[in-house]
Amino acid sequence: MRATTPIIRKIYNDCNTLYFEGKLPTPIFGTYKFNRVWGSVKTRHDLDPNGRVINFQSWLRMNSRWDISEDKMIDVVLHEMIHIYIVYNGIPVTQPDGHGEEFIKVMNDINEKYGRNVKVNKEIDLEELDTDNLRRGHYICMVEMKDARSGFYPLPPNRVPKLRQTMEKFDQVKSYTLYYTEHPFFNRYLTNKKVKSFPLYYEDVEEILKQAINLTQEKQTDTKD
Ligand SMILES: [Zn+2]
Repeated sequence: MRATTPIIRKIYNDCNTLYFEGKLPTPIFGTYKFNRVWGSVKTRHDLDPNGRVINFQSWLRMNSRWDISEDKMIDVVLHEMIHIYIVYNGIPVTQPDGHGEEFIKVMNDINEKYGRNVKVNKEIDLEELDTDNLRRGHYICMVEMKDARSGFYPLPPNRVPKLRQTMEKFDQVKSYTLYYTEHPFFNRYLTNKKVKSFPLYYEDVEEILKQAINLTQEKQTDTKD
């Protein structure tokens, strides 16, 4: 499923009842199509003279870039809810990214008690995007490096017209082939990877590209007379 505001609201309300005794305040919900994040939460509050949290407000946004399973969606919403739970209850946050021991404790409690799989990810686990089956276009540049390794770059469309120039400047590249494909496998990659850095590698990528449109044409004509 893809995140929409009504879906997030429904999951949030259900989870609030199931896991937080209905005690969490309702955030302002939204979606975005962003880089490598599943979702995010922002909070704002004042403190009364006794240091208690008052005037609490929160914003919860989910990435609608991907088509993910309902279970994954619930686990991500729960992750964001734990952030809200901690700040709303005035529990001291011990790590700048909010994933200190106070977070881990609540997360582990929920996972153990209810068999959930809430995580703290440094990077998105790309295999979790295997469920994404939306079809959209991708320009993929397969490259062969001079050291015999190979890999690919997902390209933004506006970089395609200057591809030859770019590749010529990158002297580790031996040859390249440009493909256009709507295979959902490539949904998980961002197109802003620097072409100067080593290309991405996935062992089955050539198999997947067999169904792609090969945009690189090579021709030789010999003139004999
Ligand atoms: Zn977090």
